[in-house]
Formats: sequence, C-alpha cells, structure tokens
Amino acid sequence: MKKLLDKIVREMAPLNHLTDESVVKGALADTRVQCARCTAAHCCSQATLIFLPEAFYIANKYPVPPELWAPWIVLGTTMEQSRRDDYFGQNISCVYLDNDKRCNIYDRRPSCCRVYFTACEPALCSPHHRESILVMNATNFHRQWAELMMVYNVGLGIVPQAVGALPRMMVIATKLLERPSQKYLHDQIWLDFDGPLATS
Ligand code: SF4
Ligand code: SF4
Repeated sequence: MKKLLDKIVREMAPLNHLTDESVVKGALADTRVQCARCTAAHCCSQATLIFLPEAFYIANKYPVPPELWAPWIVLGTTMEQSRRDDYFGQNISCVYLDNDKRCNIYDRRPSCCRVYFTACEPALCSPHHRESILVMNATNFHRQWAELMMVYNVGLGIVPQAVGALPRMMVIATKLLERPSQKYLHDQIWLDFDGPLATS
C-alpha cells in the first residue's frame, strides 16, 4: 500500500499542472471571469467533495494535526449529509480559508477548486444569490482526470467512484500516510457524486 500511496503523491503534481493549463486555456480565457482578481471567496463555503487520492497529495505536504481529526470528521460528515444548497446557505468557510480569505493549501488545492470559476460579479457568488451564480465549464480535461482518480481508487481497493468531504478525506489520508492500513481504509464510508449531496 505504501508504494501505491507514494506513486499517487508523485503523479498528482503533473496532473494538477495539466488541469491548470486547461483552465488557463478555457475559463480564464473568458474575460467575464473575475476569479483571478476576486477576494470574496464565497465559493469556499460550498460543500467540497474530493477523491481520496487528491487528499494524499495534499496531506503529504499539509498533514492534519491530530487535535483536528475529530472535529474535521464531524464537519466532513455534516457536509456529506447535507443537501448542497443547504450547506452553502450556512456560509461555513472551508477549513483551509484563512482570515484574509486566502487558501492555506493553494498550491495543492483539490481539483474541484482548481476548475471552479464563475462568470458573474463576485457578490453574486454568495449563498444569498446562489440562483444567479453562472458557473463556467472550465475544462474538458476534468472528466479524464476523474477517470484516472477512479483507477487509483480501484488500486486502493475501494469503489471506483468513491469520494468524500474534504475535511474527512484529509483526516483519512493523513492517518493512512502515517500508518498504511487496508483495514482502516475499508472501514470508511464513501459517497459518490450522486450521493446525499444531490440537490433534488
Ligand atoms: S467563484 Fe465567485 S467568489 Fe469564487 S473566486 Fe470566482 S468570483 Fe470570487
Ligand atoms: S481548499 Fe482552498 S480553494 Fe478549496 S474551498 Fe478550501 S479554501 Fe477554497
């Protein structure tokens, strides 16, 4: 298992680079997109689902301190059990958003954050205006990227489409990097993108 975790961590950097390149050619080429200049960060209070392999890459540089394990599991579970709009409406900032509204793990942020762009005024990205948010289709690369995450999941022995909320995935990844354990991995609960977070 350790070899696979090392391989995933090694391969995520070039993959993220490819994602960023396709974003520059796609969403950021659209002059309506103001995200690069935005300091509002309303988008960072949405429920964030990620694949576990991404969490390994983040946790390899930013391991979660043990005192945050329990609260982040609780927060992640709440995120997973909420409807997307309901969670957004609570306006809970991401665990990685600092007081200056900057991302503490920006260089390793998950893919869903890398490809999320809107073509509206930042003020319209707030939970109060969520019906008017105009989300851009940032990159065709994202689908291929997701397929690769599923290949990694299969390698880990979990359901291909398994995802989970960012805080909970980060705790799981931190623990597994410290002490690889197939049993601990298999004891976890997984969602997929059509799971309890569906809006309908
Ligand atoms: S999605 Fe909206 S709130 Fe987020 S960075 Fe872009 S403009 Fe700002
Ligand atoms: S990981 Fe960073 S970019 Fe993504 S939601 Fe959290 S603070 Fe925002």
